[in-house]
Amino acid sequence: MTTANTTGTATLTEGVRAEAAIDLGALRDNLAALRARTDGAAVMAVVKADAYGHGAVRCAQEAVAAGVRWLGAATPEEALALRAAGIGPERARVLCWLWTPGGPWARALRAGIDISVSAQWALDELLAAVRETGVPGRVHLKADTGLGRNGCQPREWPALVAEALRAQAEGLIEVVGLWSHFAAADEPGHPSIQAQLDGFAEAVALAERAGVRPEVRHLANSPATLTLPQSHYDLVRTGLAMYGLSPVPQLGAPAEYGLRPVMSLTARLALVKHVPGGHGVSYGHHYTTPRETTLGLVPIGYADGIPRHASGTGPVLVAGRRRLVAGRVAMDQFVVDLDGDTPGVGEEVLLFGNGEQGEPTAEDWGVACGTLSYEIVTRIGARVPRRYFGGSEL
Ligand SMILES: *Cc1c(COP(=O)(O)O)cnc(C)c1O
Repeated sequence: MTTANTTGTATLTEGVRAEAAIDLGALRDNLAALRARTDGAAVMAVVKADAYGHGAVRCAQEAVAAGVRWLGAATPEEALALRAAGIGPERARVLCWLWTPGGPWARALRAGIDISVSAQWALDELLAAVRETGVPGRVHLKADTGLGRNGCQPREWPALVAEALRAQAEGLIEVVGLWSHFAAADEPGHPSIQAQLDGFAEAVALAERAGVRPEVRHLANSPATLTLPQSHYDLVRTGLAMYGLSPVPQLGAPAEYGLRPVMSLTARLALVKHVPGGHGVSYGHHYTTPRETTLGLVPIGYADGIPRHASGTGPVLVAGRRRLVAGRVAMDQFVVDLDGDTPGVGEEVLLFGNGEQGEPTAEDWGVACGTLSYEIVTRIGARVPRRYFGGSEL
């Protein structure tokens, strides 16, 4: 895992255009901080969407090395990739929750992946695969307690539980989990929160009365893990907080929860030039230089995941000062007005990081783009190399 630069975020690897540095020491520390809050509940490291852009396999390996025994994936392909990378069932349970008809049920069973079931059609397809492979399924029944997305509506829940128990009695599956997901845990005090806590308690009680003996009951995502201890049950599913970002920025920055951002994004100036006042900048000329100035060309754009909505608003640190994206973000590049400063071509442009060097954070970019830090880090594209540092020997 060692690369030319293992020391930290300060220096971009020689010769690269742009790079996302992934601080695995921060990832471990964030997991420790989350565990310290959960009072006995286990922590699931949610590594869907390539670990929110941080690199699913490497982050999962680091989490497992740090003692995490549960990994969360959305799609079966994501779950299977973790197994293919050598993270076996003896090292971590992998729960996969976003199934579609015709999905790779048999492969998931053979790979020892825990399967979420929200509806009868999914149970039917799973049971067919169990009969085909001879491998019993580990099932987490998902209740819709109010999110209105995936999960089983209360009206259908008793029947789904009964069908699952019938299959369990035949030795085809084991119902190991009961779970649900919040709609607005990031808005403490939102009336849906108490309603979902109550709905989940009812769904669990009904299933347990029917005979389900779950290994884990789980409801909490990152914001609930940080703000709602009564939601922790046996397992919390943390994504964003593990990556060191605050899921409740209106209540507190990461440091207030003992977290520190894992990803920092840096690029290298590709050109610095003098231009006269009144010069249009980038497509559509949405920025015009107010006076004679210097422009810096930053070779990263929306193909790399820099939102086009950052046009005119995205903050960067270059040559010791904060600057804003001048004009439109293009597919591969954007421009900053350097206000007469003349940093050398090749100088580092810090887009976001943990803020220790005065650089913006992913949260700042979220605000600048009218979105969440979740989306900022998750969008960072495959064209941007990841550099890992601070990781454990694996
Ligand atoms: C993404 C996701 C999580 C993690 O959410 P965070 O807010 O990032 O912690 C947990 N559970 C489910 C079902 C998810 O889809």
